[in-house]
Amino acid sequence: MENVLSHAQLLAVAEEYGTPLYVYHEDKIVSQYQRLVKAFNNEKVRFFYACKALTNINILKVLKAQGCNIDCSSINEVKLALHVGFDPKNVLYTSNGIDFEEIETARSLGVIINIDSLSNLKKFGQKFGSSYPVGVRLRPNIMAGGNLKISTGHDKSKFGIPVDQLDQLLDIISQHQINITNLHIHTGSDIKDVDVFVKGIEVLFEIIPHFPNLKSIDLGGGFKVAYKEDDPAIDIEALAASVLETFASNELTKDLQIWFEPGKFLVSESGYFVTKVNVLKETSATTFAGVNSGFNHLIRPMFYDAYHRIANLSNPQGEEKEYTITGNICETDTFAWSRPLPEVREGDLLVFYNAGAYGFEMSSNYNSRFKPAEVLITNGSARLIRKRDVFEDLLRGQLVD
Ligand code: PLP
Repeated sequence: MENVLSHAQLLAVAEEYGTPLYVYHEDKIVSQYQRLVKAFNNEKVRFFYACKALTNINILKVLKAQGCNIDCSSINEVKLALHVGFDPKNVLYTSNGIDFEEIETARSLGVIINIDSLSNLKKFGQKFGSSYPVGVRLRPNIMAGGNLKISTGHDKSKFGIPVDQLDQLLDIISQHQINITNLHIHTGSDIKDVDVFVKGIEVLFEIIPHFPNLKSIDLGGGFKVAYKEDDPAIDIEALAASVLETFASNELTKDLQIWFEPGKFLVSESGYFVTKVNVLKETSATTFAGVNSGFNHLIRPMFYDAYHRIANLSNPQGEEKEYTITGNICETDTFAWSRPLPEVREGDLLVFYNAGAYGFEMSSNYNSRFKPAEVLITNGSARLIRKRDVFEDLLRGQLVD
């Protein structure tokens, strides 16, 4: 794996900024983006970073400087994107289940919008008719993604307008002369099978003829990265070849732009979460290593049964033993059960790999604990990009009489 931070670098930043600490490696983000650009090597293809994965504005700036566009999942993400200087025409707002007011705001900000319900599309048509081009998110009824919790395109998913409701969709469009320029699908996260994307395009082949103003097809994100040592990741080069070939194979799609919304692929591997072992507890079932964190900082293992590689930064040559890594909050917050690690001692620093996507971003102040600090490493030097919470942060917004 290229562009990996060494134990020594991680120990040094942890020493300087304390733990728990999120550390991001700019070179890795850039190389992931460049890998996408190189693999597709086609000016019809546009990448929109799905910033829900990690919205620290310093990370957004890194991707903006690369020429990447941005995909947002709330109006506040849209505002963050504009705040860091993205041009509205490079900002995509793919909403779901939102108040129509947010769509109106997005329109007034001039960003690209994907609407995901008949209800909001109707309101959009009533208010704006054909005056503002818009995209629709479709639900292709395809089961894909690492597990059910992160599958979004299947026939019981809340996301998108089901393709079986095409007639109703077309009625609304024709009634209000809505100018549909983009069709969007996103089938899930952790997709390693290139054919899922091809299948998605094939579902759209049937639908595209109904949309004469179409300019782009948005295939969403979901590219799988390796979380375990021997985990298969999506083969980006194979994906590019298949998708480009499928688009070129059909008169309907050959001139359309192809959009993607990668989140995890761009930032997951750039992120490291460093924690300190507070307590060792030997029991008949296992030896617990309790770290100064919990699902308030990294919820993926508990929420999705996600696997994160863990290493003992402080004692890498120690004798291997099994440890169950838990946090310090008042819930069962098991990061890893019976994980072989070099001997762990109280005070040792443990790092969780692949913590860049949906790590800090899903963190909370549960148990009134502080959110961690974030550090960005650029050209070998570390810079604090978010301060660790302090007590006043817990009181912010609370009112007293
Ligand atoms: N696009 C949409 C609409 C999504 O819902 C998501 C993830 O939830 C993404 C893109 C990014 O997915 P990933 O981080 O797996 O690439």
